[in-house]
Formats: sequence, structure tokens, C-alpha cells
Amino acid sequence: MVDMLLRRYFRGPHVSWAQAVHPVADDERGLLVWLPAGAGFACRTEPDGTPLRDAPAIEDYGAAPLRRRTWADRDVLILHPPAAAHSVWWFFREGRFLGWYVNLEAVLARHAGGIDVIDHHLDIVVDPDRTWRWKDEDTFAACVDRPGFWTTAESLAIRAEGSRVAAKADRGEFPFDGTWQDFRPDPAWPVPNLPPNPL
Ligand SMILES: [Mg+2]
Repeated sequence: MVDMLLRRYFRGPHVSWAQAVHPVADDERGLLVWLPAGAGFACRTEPDGTPLRDAPAIEDYGAAPLRRRTWADRDVLILHPPAAAHSVWWFFREGRFLGWYVNLEAVLARHAGGIDVIDHHLDIVVDPDRTWRWKDEDTFAACVDRPGFWTTAESLAIRAEGSRVAAKADRGEFPFDGTWQDFRPDPAWPVPNLPPNPL
């Protein structure tokens, strides 16, 4: 397996976010990747350098500069289950499990150097005790029926996907059954770095 995959988010034709991740496994549970603190990523920014978040127009993403950053503070294990419209993130700080995050997104597209996804704004935060809550419902709702985002019907499907995953947390099913909460990366893995041109 290669050392690095590029995981990119698209908004319309524009890369809005790119992160270098280390591939861990690719099997019947899905594609599993490791994003350690120190890894390279790039995001669209405002003129003052703060990340561009929740811009309501596709063109805003093309116009904003893509700036290189370093992923900091938390390590993340990310699972893309097969053909799923979400990914599940295990957050760690210095080896301590902090909880999960369900990122609702389009089913990933694979290419030679990595994977591309379209973020759906709406997320779910799942605490270690498996209580959960929606996140960013406002920005998700604000983009319904906007060009390049999602229709009303699609927004219902996105939310339904989230509800199905949250029900797994309620039942303590995989991936919320303790799997990988004690995950440790192989110390030999290099910290993944962005290629010179992540676009
Ligand atoms: Mg999201």
C-alpha cells in the first residue's frame, strides 16, 4: 500500500479542502486512513487567513486562495464504509480517545492518488458514552436549494443517512462498539505530507 493518500473535498469544480492521510486498511469494513497531528492539509481562506467556512456560493470557493496548513492538536482515524454517504472519525489526543464524529458526505470517488468527497455540512458528534447530537444544522439548512449544494429531497436523504448512523450509536453497534478506540499507529509510519500541488 502507498504511504500517502490525498483526501480532498470538492465544492462544485473547486477543491475546498485537501488533507494528506496515511492508508491503514481497505477491506469489507471500508477504507480506513490515519490523519496524525503534523500532517499537511490545505484549505480555502478568507483574506485574513481564517478558513473559509460555509460560503453560500460555489464561486466563493474558486475565488478564495488555497493555503497550506499543518493539522494540529488531534489525531484522527477515518473510516469510509463501503458505498456510504458518510465517514466516521475517531478523535484522539496523545493516545486518549475523545469521541467520534460522523461527517455526512457524498459517497467517495477514488482516483489514483486518493479520494474525493463532497461534504454535506451536516455532522453528528458522538461522545465516548455514545450520546450524540447534530452539528451545523443551520448551515446545512441554509444551503438547501442553492445552486451546487442540495435540493430539498437530497437534504432529507442526507439527514436520513445521519439518523441511520446515529441509531447505530444508540444500539452500540459497529463502528460504535469499542472498535479502534485503543488504536495506535505504527511508529514507523511517516507523517503524511501534501504533494506540491494538491489541486
Ligand atoms: Mg461535515
